[in-house]
Amino acid sequence: MSEERFASAAALPARIHRLHELAIDLWWSWDKRAREVFRRLDYELWRSTAHNPVRMLQSITADQLATAAGDPAFLSAYDQALFGLDQARTQAHPWWQERASLMNGGSIAYFSAEFALHQSLPIYAGGLGVLAGDHCKEAADLGVPLVGVGFMYPQGYFLQRMSNEGWQEERHQRINWTEVPIEAALTPDGKPCITAIPLGDRTVLAAVWRVRLGKVRLFLLDTDLAENAPWDRELSARLYGGDRETRIQQEIILGIGGVRALRALGVTPTVWHLNEGHAAFVALQRIREGIEQGHSFDEALATVKASTVFTTHTPVPAGHDAFPFHLVEKHLAGSWGEIGEHRQRFLALGEYDNGSGSQFNMTALALRTAGHVNGVSALHGEVTRTMWRPMWPELPADQIPVRSITNGVHVPTWMAGSVFQLLDQHFGPGWLDHVDEPELWERLRDIPDAEIWATRNAMRTDLFSFIRERMRSRWSGEHVGPSRIVASGSMLDPNALTLGYARRFTAYKRPELIFHDPDRLVRILTAIDRPVQIVFAGKAHPADEPAKHHLQRVFRHALDPKFGGRLAFIDDYDMHLAHYLVHGCDVWLNNPRKPLEASGTSGMKAALNGVPHLSIGDGWWAEGFNGKNGWLIESHTNPDDQAATDAADAESLYSLLENEVVPLFYDRDPRGLPRQWIQVVREAMRSNAPRFSTRRMIKQYITEMYAPAAKR
Ligand SMILES: *Cc1c(COP(=O)(O)O)cnc(C)c1O
Repeated sequence: MSEERFASAAALPARIHRLHELAIDLWWSWDKRAREVFRRLDYELWRSTAHNPVRMLQSITADQLATAAGDPAFLSAYDQALFGLDQARTQAHPWWQERASLMNGGSIAYFSAEFALHQSLPIYAGGLGVLAGDHCKEAADLGVPLVGVGFMYPQGYFLQRMSNEGWQEERHQRINWTEVPIEAALTPDGKPCITAIPLGDRTVLAAVWRVRLGKVRLFLLDTDLAENAPWDRELSARLYGGDRETRIQQEIILGIGGVRALRALGVTPTVWHLNEGHAAFVALQRIREGIEQGHSFDEALATVKASTVFTTHTPVPAGHDAFPFHLVEKHLAGSWGEIGEHRQRFLALGEYDNGSGSQFNMTALALRTAGHVNGVSALHGEVTRTMWRPMWPELPADQIPVRSITNGVHVPTWMAGSVFQLLDQHFGPGWLDHVDEPELWERLRDIPDAEIWATRNAMRTDLFSFIRERMRSRWSGEHVGPSRIVASGSMLDPNALTLGYARRFTAYKRPELIFHDPDRLVRILTAIDRPVQIVFAGKAHPADEPAKHHLQRVFRHALDPKFGGRLAFIDDYDMHLAHYLVHGCDVWLNNPRKPLEASGTSGMKAALNGVPHLSIGDGWWAEGFNGKNGWLIESHTNPDDQAATDAADAESLYSLLENEVVPLFYDRDPRGLPRQWIQVVREAMRSNAPRFSTRRMIKQYITEMYAPAAKR
């Protein structure tokens, strides 16, 4: 399969023959030098493909390539990028070099149902995928030997379009395999890797695709093969689509198929990291391997446990996958093999009663088969220990073996180019190697207010250009109605204080909290001299009807003339839109019902770009807020009384806006600079950037989880 796909590479002029190689290694997406190559190659194509170099190389003409191959400026960028790529693939960061021995030369396999690496590879739904993607990128930057294992969903997650009435419409688009940065994964003898997975009473085949991120590789399973029955080809079609029956089969393919694929590829991890319970069947396959090698069930389980790391992500009970036992029995029927006699023992590993009867629970399975477990913020760690307490009836709460490692974001991915440039000027070369060191960020004090403010303004302007551009294409390309154009932000003002609210629409995140008192909100938004506007974005899960109604009501508010066109809903929230939003808004709003937000990461991305957080003290903000780097929405009501909590939280939000946020933003000195505001911007970056970086996070995973799991 690879030969025909890379036909275009053959057409590259010799001087730039590695351009295709650069395009299919997503390392380019977070390296400034590499991005510069593609921007220079054809800026219009770069924009119109939403930064997809693989597609660019398909539509670019031979003349353009020849011109580039003779252009000294282009060649210099090209040479620098290729130098960087070779370095990224061969060298390790000194921090890792000093600690590689902690792992005894071993490596890590990181399993996740979704990976958000770049908008051109739409195999993610949201936060869980972004965390997985950022984790892998950071591992690549440090040179940590890690491989990712996941799915290549032929139809990805859905594209969101809003009807003129504000109803979410979902479209699934088949990913064009020639337009995404993937290659067939090859076995050690050079053949495309196809893995056979026992499923029920049959065998399903999965092709394995490879994605490169410098030194890190991702292996993605795909059942859409002609050899499979039509219903099996559909198994990996969509992320989080389908019913329980599809879901359990996907999880068997990910867990059991993932281990088999690694074996076939000759990859031998020492540490197995399960990102969320979806991949917990990894344990079954590994226990089975142990038994086949002659160990007892208990010995095999002990070995698996010692080397398994599990990260749990949700404090919402319904967010944990559980299946009736008959479904598990049905679909695992072919997997028992040598361990058939231990079937009951294996099934018992997943048994859990969350109040609605005993089921096979994927989180319970992961908790019983992983010796190293963590939640994703300090608060979430606590909530997790309480939530799963029944699993350790003999232990006091503070000894429940669940620790926490707070999430972070990958700085080179989420920092705007203009902020990068500003820091390059003031921090000097090589600063990116020190992003998790607080001392580095102290130097923000030396950057003049005017430069920080100019950078913030430029990012806000970029956001509005992007929004207008998207409206134009919807208007002229998709012929949406005028109401859609109004609701999509055609009246937004690039100089007004802009709040961003972009997240999955779901009840616990309370997307309508800010509309609690609509008249008060009207007064805040439409003040003549101090206008405020809000940009909303986010998808509702297709099966979440209440969430779609939340979304529709927000959309209708955006159409309501009383808000003066100061509300907008931008459709199809993805990584691309996320970049513009976390750079260009002035304040990042988050108002979940505490403590249901495990961590949240979009606010970290915003803070990195000088966008302070205005949030409930949930998830990461419970530890991030320091009184000067943003605002805390706080109320003291009985959390069980939801109506009272909503009212009190809304009151806190309004009064923060009226008394602190808005006055601070519009308080300008004679030069037009909001001096106090800029202090908050600086403090948001200074205090949050090092702590909530994946650099800090992955170092913690290595020393607290991977190293102990690699010990024998
Ligand atoms: C960062 C990101 C998320 C996660 O953000 P939360 O703060 O957890 O809501 C979700 N979707 C996209 C597209 C993102 O970029």
